[in-house]
Amino acid sequence: MNKKGHVLNAVLLSIGLGYLLEPAGDLETFETIVAITVPVTLGALFPDVDTAFGKHRKTLHNLPVLALFIVFPYVFGNLEYVWIGVLTHYVLDVAGSKRGIALFYPLWKKEYGLPIGVTVSSKYADAVTVVVTGLELVLVALIVYEVPQWGFEMGQQMVGF
Ligand SMILES: [Zn+2]
Repeated sequence: MNKKGHVLNAVLLSIGLGYLLEPAGDLETFETIVAITVPVTLGALFPDVDTAFGKHRKTLHNLPVLALFIVFPYVFGNLEYVWIGVLTHYVLDVAGSKRGIALFYPLWKKEYGLPIGVTVSSKYADAVTVVVTGLELVLVALIVYEVPQWGFEMGQQMVGF
């Protein structure tokens, strides 16, 4: 996807995440959306820096780079949420566009993609971006609302209730 698609994805995803984390729709929801949108959008723009430095869809489109952004806040105490932008960039490139990304670069140069994507210049690119973002939010909602329940029920069964 191009920059426009990645920004659209990051902003829509952040709004959705804000409502998932603070569903009331009040000032706290708005503050959460702002706090998430800025770092997630920056993170979503980051991987395509490899169009200028390195090999595009390889150098900054792989799991080691994502791992760095996940670990960074724990080590240095900032850049929280940036990893979400990097991750959603990967998801959109893999699921939404024709060409995949080299997830295991530099170990493997092979690019992984799903056969459902469209070309970056396609007139359906924005629609695909919105659909992918919607699916991401459904997945996050399941994790936020269902996984704790499953864990709770599994825990109950394990202790014999
Ligand atoms: Zn990309």
